Amino acid sequence: MLVLIDRVRFGPAGYPIDAPRERAFSYLREIGLDAMEYQAVRAIPKNEDLLSWVRNEASENDIMLTLHAPYAINLCSKEKGAASVKRLVDSGIAASKIGANHVTFHPGYYGKMSEEDALKTAIESLKRVREELISLGINLELGPETTGKPSQLGSLDEVLRMAEEVDGVRPTIDFAHIHAREGGSIRSREDYERILKIIERELGDLNGLVIHFTEVELTKSGVGERMHHDLGSGYGPPFEPLAEIIAEYGLRWLIISESPVLERDSIKMKALYVDALTKVKNL
Ligand SMILES: [Zn+2]
Repeated sequence: MLVLIDRVRFGPAGYPIDAPRERAFSYLREIGLDAMEYQAVRAIPKNEDLLSWVRNEASENDIMLTLHAPYAINLCSKEKGAASVKRLVDSGIAASKIGANHVTFHPGYYGKMSEEDALKTAIESLKRVREELISLGINLELGPETTGKPSQLGSLDEVLRMAEEVDGVRPTIDFAHIHAREGGSIRSREDYERILKIIERELGDLNGLVIHFTEVELTKSGVGERMHHDLGSGYGPPFEPLAEIIAEYGLRWLIISESPVLERDSIKMKALYVDALTKVKNL
């Protein structure tokens, strides 16, 4: 584990929606949040002034950062592999400049490959990414995300295989995506516990995970994500049972809200967690 998470931290996927960008980080602190995922999903920031501004603002306000690499990464593709490796290396460079120790990315698409071939190709690409970053003196977590569409590499088992086979890889666990990919599989505490048992078996420890959370509507076919929804919309997965588990197990996670209302739902998630914690303490 390369990212030491000192407590449960909450924050949005991207700059907050209720504050001007200049005040993004102090605003997050004011509303009681302490994490943010920097969005490099369309382009990797290269402007040194911007990168050092983000680094300083985040650290002054105790906002722990992760970085989301570009969507245009496909580690399964033999043709586009080299460009994707470079994009992920560049994302790692940008992450290290803003002080983020975890880079989230979508591993790629199966295309015409078999699932096993796609996975093996992605693992080889990831090894190259890791080697290049280490040769640059950058040792951070590469976080393949559990993905929400059946056409995308990134089932829970697949991202855990990547972690097993490549040093420095620790998946980003997106519960909405697991829910969508498995046809609406997360309804209760037992459903979360089933998933967490698998993760614990493979990683050895549940602490220090980077989590994505939102409620999600499934496609008409019943499998795969259609769109994200606000917390409490009823689409699921429900956050309450997860909050209970985090509180009872004493887990230290960094929880990124991917809901349409970003930090407003981070505040709700934190409140549900604090409620659960109070119940645990009163037991
Ligand atoms: Zn993502």
